[in-house]
Amino acid sequence: MVYVNFNGMGGQQPPASRPEPETSKSDLEALQDRFDRLKLVTMALWTFLKDEKGITEDQLMARVKEIDSFDGSSDGKLKLGIRKCGKCGKALNPKFEKCLYCGFITPASSIFETF
Ligand SMILES: [Zn+2]
Repeated sequence: MVYVNFNGMGGQQPPASRPEPETSKSDLEALQDRFDRLKLVTMALWTFLKDEKGITEDQLMARVKEIDSFDGSSDGKLKLGIRKCGKCGKALNPKFEKCLYCGFITPASSIFETF
């Protein structure tokens, strides 16, 4: 069973009876599970766009190709550059806005820079 859970974003919590198999899974299996959940949510979002905005799958594919080239390489992946601290210039951990070296807060300009 798959639970879509956006922690801290108002998502539903799984029922209390949920088994806890994650602790015995390998990192690879856990990553596969997270990927499968992400695919599920992405497909659900896609159905909204397809059904309510009339966007076709060909248009989606064209947009994917366009965005794929943003990083200078059309390789089916998007690798955004490493964000740097706005004060000291050192590389920022993508999970944090606050610099580990000087404490300066450099807000992300896009949600996609945060993971
Ligand atoms: Zn800094």
